[in-house]
Amino acid sequence: MATPAALTGWGSTRDGRDARYGQAVVTAGQGQPAAPAGAVLTALLQAASQEVPAAVALRRELHATPELGGRETRTASRVAAALGEPGAPSVTTGRLVRIGAASGPSVAIRAELDALPLTEQTPVAWASRNGASHSCGHDVHLAALTVAGRAVRRVGGPLPLVAVLQPREEGYPSGALDLVGSPQLEAQDIRAVIGVHVHPHILCGQVSAGPGPVNAAYDEVTITVQGRGGHAAYPHVTRDPVLAAAHVILALQHLISRRTDPMHPAVLTIGTVQAGTAANVVPEQVVLTGSLRTFEPADRASLRSAVSATAGATAEAYECTAQATFTQGEPVLDNDPALAAAAAACLAQAGLRVAEPLRSCGSDDFAYYCTRYPSLMMFVGVGQPGMQDAPGLHHPAFLPREEAVEDVARAMLAGYVAACSVVLPGAAAGLGWAPESV
Ligand SMILES: [Zn+2]
Repeated sequence: MATPAALTGWGSTRDGRDARYGQAVVTAGQGQPAAPAGAVLTALLQAASQEVPAAVALRRELHATPELGGRETRTASRVAAALGEPGAPSVTTGRLVRIGAASGPSVAIRAELDALPLTEQTPVAWASRNGASHSCGHDVHLAALTVAGRAVRRVGGPLPLVAVLQPREEGYPSGALDLVGSPQLEAQDIRAVIGVHVHPHILCGQVSAGPGPVNAAYDEVTITVQGRGGHAAYPHVTRDPVLAAAHVILALQHLISRRTDPMHPAVLTIGTVQAGTAANVVPEQVVLTGSLRTFEPADRASLRSAVSATAGATAEAYECTAQATFTQGEPVLDNDPALAAAAAACLAQAGLRVAEPLRSCGSDDFAYYCTRYPSLMMFVGVGQPGMQDAPGLHHPAFLPREEAVEDVARAMLAGYVAACSVVLPGAAAGLGWAPESV
């Protein structure tokens, strides 16, 4: 293993480093310093550890002043500045910060800018008081990305790093669609994308980086059950949509338990029911909204049509009507197998234990990057032993511990180095660095 000093020739000053980034790629094997992946990662991790205190302070600042999706301009500016480029170009309310050569192949790391419309319920002095809350851990991801980016600025790296500060991960249309396929992102010549998300179902110190599908495709459904309203004392002259909607909800559950292959994960949840306004009135209509999550494209299509047909037929039995409309969300999040394999070795070097692959019916618009680039989403543990019932993602009392900033940063750097080794195997071999335990 080369020592970190082997890297100092291409990482000391901004201008020189930028030139050398390009050279490292173009002239691989022609006299560039040997820099085994182990040494690159070691140097980056050492630099990262010095950035952690400032990043923890930044995390508190972001946490105290969250912004909802579509309004994240201040958050984006603050993080871009922390990454050393306050004037980084905008893409809607997001930013792209490129670290390294201005052109040529690069590796991207995505972090989400938005908070949730929740009233925070944590006891910390830096809790949000503005009606929005970073209850999905995006404040941790952003702070960690500043650690990773600043480490790459200081040390250098095999390929430029593009920090993707993405808006509206929690909303629709997905913020990832602002970026994926955009001229601004296409211009970055991205060859791989890394994403990291904290996860309370994984213990602290562990990271899941499983290959293949790890998150479900997501669709939202709105079902309008129309009846005929009237006085509650005379139900026989009404057509009660509340009763019909109750049966629709029950009937829909049969689509998962009896119409879907039990070996195919799928879940349908009705999350809202909006009916009348008075206890003594049969309302005219009920509106249900729900979420459908699937892993198989065929299930996605067949369940959507079955939801429509079942809702309609069930409502008809009560002499009401039901109309279902769908809003298509993100596709399945499909981790690139080569990136996952390379990351496993680098994660271990970064002091993180590789956990069993986490596959869940959660969803994340990072899936859109997977459709365009080889991509890897990793889940970093923030769970504590014996605390399975602690508030989880999207709960207003969810609060990852502060050490998560460093854990996520280390996972990001491991993913970045792993991606470089996969993207440019020839150049990596020429430079003498492939993940040492692969
Ligand atoms: Zn999230």
